Amino acid sequence: MSRRLAQGFRPDRPGVPVVVAIGANLGDRAATIDAAVEDLRALPLTDEVRVAPPISSVAVKLDGPDAAAPAYLNTVALLRTRLAPWRLLDALHAVEARHGRVRAERWGDRTLDLDIVAYGAVRSDAPDLTLPHPRAAERTFVLEPWLALDADAQLPGSGRVQELLARLQADA
Ligand code: ADP
Ligand code: MG
Repeated sequence: MSRRLAQGFRPDRPGVPVVVAIGANLGDRAATIDAAVEDLRALPLTDEVRVAPPISSVAVKLDGPDAAAPAYLNTVALLRTRLAPWRLLDALHAVEARHGRVRAERWGDRTLDLDIVAYGAVRSDAPDLTLPHPRAAERTFVLEPWLALDADAQLPGSGRVQELLARLQADA
């Protein structure tokens, strides 16, 4: 999907179901996640925000899991929005900045990470917004909370979340 087409998204249409992955590994992780969820609820043209109980997971670095790094608290929010994909991404970056920037000097820069896992069935290979998120299918910490919210969840292009998760757990 082109950026222009995305921005031409019709605001008079019903909202699109969106999956947002939320992660925090610095500071008061649970409080940051709660505050971020409240920010999602306050987004314009956005409603039906539901969030799964957060789960803890080992930080994953470029060379793989890093048990020495502060552990992550991760969860997933489902919502419906009439914001176009890039507008939603901008809004999520603003939420990250609001929480991340405040603690940036003290805690570092991973206070809050918000990724768009899926925006309806939209496919995009734009580097600034790849949809669905290219690593979602391999991330237990995304699939598990998503499945907790929606037993029938499907990751566009990859299949049922329940099966993706079962495969990851079998390989672990
Ligand atoms: P990461 O989430 O990979 O740890 P960042 O949060 O710093 O890293 O994001 C880096 C860039 O990834 C962002 O500037 C954003 O434009 C881009 N990006 C590409 N696809 C997505 C997506 N589906 N959701 C969120 N960001 C994305
Ligand atoms: Mg991110």
